[in-house]
Amino acid sequence: MMPIVRGPRPQALAAKAERWTASWVEKAERGRKFKWPTWKGQPLNDVLEVSLAEMTGGHCAYCDHFPLDVEARSTIDHHRPKAAGLFPHLAFEWSNLFYCCSFCNGTKGEQWHDALLKPDELGFAFERYFDIDAMSGEMRASPAATPHDRLRAEESIRIFGLNEGNRPLSRRTWARKGPAPGQPYRFLV
Ligand SMILES: [Zn+2]
Repeated sequence: MMPIVRGPRPQALAAKAERWTASWVEKAERGRKFKWPTWKGQPLNDVLEVSLAEMTGGHCAYCDHFPLDVEARSTIDHHRPKAAGLFPHLAFEWSNLFYCCSFCNGTKGEQWHDALLKPDELGFAFERYFDIDAMSGEMRASPAATPHDRLRAEESIRIFGLNEGNRPLSRRTWARKGPAPGQPYRFLV
């Protein structure tokens, strides 16, 4: 999870976020499934993914997987979940959207915790919250973190499944060898 500088709100959201939000809030209450609307003939998620991927250099905003392709598809995560009873009014809020791999997004689902880290928030730095265990490759809360920062790190690791599957092994290999020149940082999720 690396710091992200958020770019300007895309034109599509500036133009229609209000209308789309009102429509989704009403549908969510009736238990309908979320579907991205279209913008100028294109699925809105395709349009937004271009701007979101620019902010992370094409990496998943949470686990850093790169590139997002068939193994871990590109998706958009609603940081505060858009489900009814949670934050449906933030479904089209630019600051709530992140470029995210399908593994992180699927693991998170509609889980939410106030402590969840947001990589574009002021003061976010990997080292402030996290540490990587060199033996196992697992991420953990930095021993130097304050109790509240530790909670934030631990909840983020849990909700995004950052130590699940092959992720620690991939992280350990990467941490030991470093990426080969020109090679992407790649987790085997
Ligand atoms: Zn991810």
